[in-house]
Amino acid sequence: MTYLTVPLSAQNICQLKEQTQNAFESGAQMLEFRSDYIENLDLEKLGEAIEILKEITLPIIVTCRDSKEGGQNDLPQSLRTQILCAAIRLGADYIDCEYANYKKHEVANEIEAALSNANSCRLVLSCHNFKSTFDDLRVIYDSIISVCSHAIPKIVYTAKHINDCFECFDLYRESDGDLIVLCMGEAGIITRILAKKFGALLTFTSLDDGTKTASGQVSISQMRDLYRYDSIDKDTQIYGIIAAPVAHSMSPAIHNACFAQAKLNKVYLPMLVDGDELEFNEFVDMVRLRSWLDFRGFSVSIPHKENALKYLINRGQTLEPLASEIGSINTIMIGDGSAASGFNTDYKGAMDALVESIGGDKNWLNHKHAAIIGAGGVARAIVAGLIDRDCHVTIYNRTTSRAHRLAEEFACYWSQLEQIGGEDWNPDVVINCTSVGMCPNIENTPVPSKSLSDKMVVFDTIYNPIETLLLEDAKKAGAKIVSGVDMFVAQAMEQFVHFTNEKGDQELMRKTVFDWL
Ligand code: NAP
Repeated sequence: MTYLTVPLSAQNICQLKEQTQNAFESGAQMLEFRSDYIENLDLEKLGEAIEILKEITLPIIVTCRDSKEGGQNDLPQSLRTQILCAAIRLGADYIDCEYANYKKHEVANEIEAALSNANSCRLVLSCHNFKSTFDDLRVIYDSIISVCSHAIPKIVYTAKHINDCFECFDLYRESDGDLIVLCMGEAGIITRILAKKFGALLTFTSLDDGTKTASGQVSISQMRDLYRYDSIDKDTQIYGIIAAPVAHSMSPAIHNACFAQAKLNKVYLPMLVDGDELEFNEFVDMVRLRSWLDFRGFSVSIPHKENALKYLINRGQTLEPLASEIGSINTIMIGDGSAASGFNTDYKGAMDALVESIGGDKNWLNHKHAAIIGAGGVARAIVAGLIDRDCHVTIYNRTTSRAHRLAEEFACYWSQLEQIGGEDWNPDVVINCTSVGMCPNIENTPVPSKSLSDKMVVFDTIYNPIETLLLEDAKKAGAKIVSGVDMFVAQAMEQFVHFTNEKGDQELMRKTVFDWL
């Protein structure tokens, strides 16, 4: 069992009571009493605290952290050792001592004497690096075990990049016995969630943002409700979204909801891949070198859609034919033998959303006139999809050179933004592929309301807000409308098929998106 452990960072006994109760009600499986947070800590307060903790029947780990390793209140070593020894006598299930301090004979002697008289308390020896990774995790692990063979090593370091997490996974794979290895920071979140897959003794989770004791801790409600903690086991297959930033992404919510509904042993995580092509390549290479990790598929978002395409081409992997024409992919699958394949579901999602809005007639787009506003990644995918359906496309973009280039590539027309609504303006379909009108600038629109009519289908790829000013104006003009949510859900539905060979639940996806937004 990997205990979902809530650290209690109360400053006094009253707060401790409240935090203990909240942790219990939230479904914590173990409590870590961070005694160093208690003001004017002494043995009497420790006794009161442990009585409160024992009222609920969860396992307890008592820590009195040295300020050199992130402890509060700068307590002297002698008091910290006394506290740990008293905690052993009072029935703590685990105590956590810094490995650096345990190496001092007087500390080890006192702790070992207390442990020898205790029934079942176990010793965790911990090492922390709040700035970066350790030089060699394996060396630290071996030295902890050689100094104290009955200890549970706990190694916590800062992942400055998600690529720093792989060492942590490797150590789980290479070692036997109880172990805790976790990465701090947003890039390290995957190690906190996947600790259960790798059989760690525990992982830490916060009650809420205010009680976090380390950066990157995920709240207990997110662990359980969003990341399906309870259903993770050693066979769980891993999926995720590669992006930077990634915290805002709705993809974990929708894919995890659908995995849960389909009762699939899969979890979908946010993967913060900072940097550019080099870091992206390194991440995917590390995943593919470790098939035992069970990473099976990724959504790819800004800024890595083009990097993903280049990766697959340069590594001689498989690509969906239209993806190279579009120039980017948003889905990578990892198959047998770590073979990778790439797809673009943005274009299919956009086309599906569009076709659905006009009653499902796939041929309707043939020879229709489409005005595409924007010439970025999404515009490329949509232009490719429309040209594929024999549509006549005109691209309008702020930077005309970009419009020109894209139009040349797909043999279509281009024009300036100022020409929207001008003399030649008579499109059947208008598609906004810019961020104009996106939250918080919701009072903006790329198309003047007078240029919209009831003959048009108007599609805004923006999904936040759900109904942009462009769509509001289009509705008033009597046009058919297609929202960015329709496209987002359609591309996610397509991704879900790649991930599972099953159809996702469109209504559940929509509901999850609406709840999220
Ligand atoms: P991108 O590659 O950065 O392209 C952005 C486009 O917006 C460019 O054409 C840019 O024009 C234009 N633009 C930006 N600010 C502008 C302004 N103030 N005035 C006029 N034009 C402006 O971005 P992308 O990945 O294509 O994303 C575009 C939109 O698609 C975003 O709004 C995003 O919300 C939406 N999107 C939706 C989904 C979905 O599933 N619904 C998925 C992905 C993206 P310049 O060339 O002049 O810079």
